[in-house]
Amino acid sequence: MSILEKFAALNNRYDHLKQVGADPFAVKFDDIISCVEGVVNGKKTLLFGTNNYLGLTFDDEAKAESIEAIRRHGTGTTGSRIANGSYKGHQELERALSDFYGHTHCMVFSTGYQANLGMISTLVGKDDHLFLDADSHASIYDGSRLGHAPVVRFRHNNPDDLAKRLRRMGDQPGDKLIVVEGIYSMLGDTAPLKEFVDVKREYGAYLMVDEAHSMGVLGEHGRGLAEREGVEEDVDFVVGTFSKSLASVGGFCVSSLEGFEILRLASRPYMFTASLPPAIISSTLSALRTLRAEPQRRTKLAANSRRFYTGLRAAGFHVGPECSPIVAVMVDQPEVAVMFWKRLLEEGMYLNLALPPATPNSSAFMRSSVSAAHTDEQIDFAVALMTRVGRELGLLPEENNVCAF
Ligand code: PMP
Repeated sequence: MSILEKFAALNNRYDHLKQVGADPFAVKFDDIISCVEGVVNGKKTLLFGTNNYLGLTFDDEAKAESIEAIRRHGTGTTGSRIANGSYKGHQELERALSDFYGHTHCMVFSTGYQANLGMISTLVGKDDHLFLDADSHASIYDGSRLGHAPVVRFRHNNPDDLAKRLRRMGDQPGDKLIVVEGIYSMLGDTAPLKEFVDVKREYGAYLMVDEAHSMGVLGEHGRGLAEREGVEEDVDFVVGTFSKSLASVGGFCVSSLEGFEILRLASRPYMFTASLPPAIISSTLSALRTLRAEPQRRTKLAANSRRFYTGLRAAGFHVGPECSPIVAVMVDQPEVAVMFWKRLLEEGMYLNLALPPATPNSSAFMRSSVSAAHTDEQIDFAVALMTRVGRELGLLPEENNVCAF
């Protein structure tokens, strides 16, 4: 018996993927040519699963500033924010994010995952109550495990279910924190935020919104779902990441709650890890400036998302519930999803294979994310390719089978 025996079931599932020649975990990009093109197995491949929403990974200014930061400040900070790892740049980025969101405080974390881990595990303790949407991202669940607050899960995007669970608590003491996401990372649907705000107000709870996939995407200024829905004043904590629209790595939380700064000394995922390297801080600052200065990227992203989503829907695919840059194509059977994913990669298109059990409702689907950097031609190519392969696998009717009556 090995210590790894407990992974036998996982191993079996993984072996099965490898046997059919579809190992999504082994995809290696031999080269990355642009924000939306790479080379896989020697083949030029169109990237439709990168979260590179604004197409900023190759931005000239961001690259130049990042290189200059390495020249001036070195490759890493070699320390945590509360030791030797707080540079002028970290504070500048925190000020820039506070200014962008109109909040007074900001903490920058080394990843978006850690931002959720650090905030959720710290804000609520054993005498408090944490309310999580059932489809929350792993980092939100993991934050709840690292902390000590009892967790109540409510049905996905269901404010009535949340209200029912809050009502049941009666007047138990303790703070209540509700956590929802702007755009949900797997199916691309948005939270009914106005209704969640009504519930939060009625029950005197705090509200945190993870805008990881909606920052730079939604709202007139790109601040996310809370901006689009006009409820920013009711959101107590906004969490986000640099690894999507801002094209680097890292995470943050902004808030105007008085006393927020003490969290720097209370949040273990903030304290006990090295801070972000200067190159990352500089490219992120640059990308944030571009996000603010170039709203046309957001407009193009919206147009691209519509083109892809409506194209797939018109082809007959069962797509996710809302049009957003995250487009899910539902495939009932996991085996078919695996074959679909494999065939698309062979034909030069990369997207994400989403398999149960790590998916909403244990469904199998293809998850794509659209970028502002995609051209109309690339989107049309992707829709046509998915349609052809979808027909090949019996997911869509044959073209000449369509009945006119
Ligand atoms: N929150 C959500 C909703 C996410 O989807 C992700 C990552 N996909 C994260 C947080 C974590 O962000 P990061 O990858 O930057 O650590």
